[in-house]
Amino acid sequence: MKTIKDKQGKTIITYIEGDGIGPEVMSAARKIIDETNAKISWEPCVAGKKVFEQGNQSGVPQETIDSIKKNGVVFKGPLETPVGFGQNSANVTLRKLFETYANIRPVRELPSVITPFSGRNIDLVIVRENVEDLYAGIEYMQTPGVAESLKLITRKGCEKIVRLAFEFAISEGRKKVHCATKANIMKLSEGLLKKTFESVASRYPEIEAKHIIIDNCAHQLVRFPEEFDVIVTTNMNGDILSDLTSGLIGGLGFAPSANIGKEAAMFEAVHGSAPDIAGKNIVNPTAVILAGVMMLRHIGELEAADQIQQSILFTLEQGIYTSDVNKTNAVSTTEFTKAVINNLGKKPKGWVDRETKQMRMPEIKNEIAFVKAQTRRCLGFDIFLESGSNAAEIGSMLKEMTKDSALTLKMISNRGTKVYPDMGAYTDCIDHWRCRFVAKDPSSNVQSDDITELTKSLSSKFEWMHIEKLWEFDGERSFSLSQGED
Ligand code: NAD
Repeated sequence: MKTIKDKQGKTIITYIEGDGIGPEVMSAARKIIDETNAKISWEPCVAGKKVFEQGNQSGVPQETIDSIKKNGVVFKGPLETPVGFGQNSANVTLRKLFETYANIRPVRELPSVITPFSGRNIDLVIVRENVEDLYAGIEYMQTPGVAESLKLITRKGCEKIVRLAFEFAISEGRKKVHCATKANIMKLSEGLLKKTFESVASRYPEIEAKHIIIDNCAHQLVRFPEEFDVIVTTNMNGDILSDLTSGLIGGLGFAPSANIGKEAAMFEAVHGSAPDIAGKNIVNPTAVILAGVMMLRHIGELEAADQIQQSILFTLEQGIYTSDVNKTNAVSTTEFTKAVINNLGKKPKGWVDRETKQMRMPEIKNEIAFVKAQTRRCLGFDIFLESGSNAAEIGSMLKEMTKDSALTLKMISNRGTKVYPDMGAYTDCIDHWRCRFVAKDPSSNVQSDDITELTKSLSSKFEWMHIEKLWEFDGERSFSLSQGED
């Protein structure tokens, strides 16, 4: 993992204050870190709201990108995309630019923060895939009334996150990794993570590996959170699940996170810029301070990391809380920070530090991933049409068009359910139809020219917006069937 040092041997950290409560929590964390013996040189940079408002569409200026490229370690506050500026979130831009493909979100019960789960010994980590899935942001309005978001999951992305989850478990002496997916419904996309998990797990025989359906995982997390150790999951599922788990131990004010990639690592709180409480000096800085602790461990400043963690726990044991934890006698952000500084060197009672070692990053080559199938065959194609006609009318028009084609119409679906040939479903149809054409000779390999020809004749009668080939890889159907299709 990349780090660089200045002439005095200090690790240089790109420091982004962020928006909303960012300046308050970041200055608290920085002050505390500066009070330890950690050898750190801060390199302040900007990203987020102000940058968008200056007209930069990505929210991240080139100087910040250059600083991260050079330093490889970032400590950042929450970033906001102001309404009316920029298309993409500056956070997502940063994660993608630096391929920080793993988002690690530890959740451990803090003995002095009383919650409905106190005493249950919650100590788990969500390892969330951080760049793929619906967060790739590939979206289209297919018709004025139909929105599409492509959920792309890759074998390489799955392998990276799964291997990292196992390596992380080893580095923390953890015994169990759950893979949480919705593979029962999204058999191909979510299923690819499950499949990859099952094949990678055999390389880590010392760790118990279990698959769990994501909705059951959410349920079990609330009923038996102490049963979980490491949970690896896709981007969207991880986003939701990790907010849930932070709620188990006292809320967003206590949830740190690390975004890890081969070229860069970014440390931040899980929470956002909380505009509702910004500037009031009431925010809980613990999450970002704990993110700082994760960063210190990452750069090898283990003593300072332990010292800060112990001081926070000691401070909480003294009953010093911000108002998100306890409204009566709450202290301000600056008072809490002062208390943590005063308590540096003191040891909390009810806490045993985990024995950790530096994580081994999975070695995955930075080259274009080409997953080869021994055999491949195109069985046909799906084309998405916009039409105000009904299924029977569209079906008979399309049948007519395929008279001289190598392809035939197999079915039409509407919102995922087969509506032609009619199977009697009460589907509430809209003007967006998926029409599936397959080869008349089921043993043949459909050629692109056949698809182009049929699409050409179709174009004279219909508005279409999307084509997808139907592949068979290594003799296995590699597309889903619609409800009711066989
Ligand atoms: P949020 O996390 O900012 O706030 C949710 C709720 O939790 C609010 O009521 C807030 O007051 C409270 N809260 C959050 N952090 C707290 C803390 N440390 N102490 C006490 N209370 C705290 O979520 P949001 O309101 O949905 O998002 C606000 C903005 O932040 C949005 O623009 C969003 O895009 C951005 N955001 C950024 C990041 C990031 O930079 N990593 C993450 C999430 C949201």
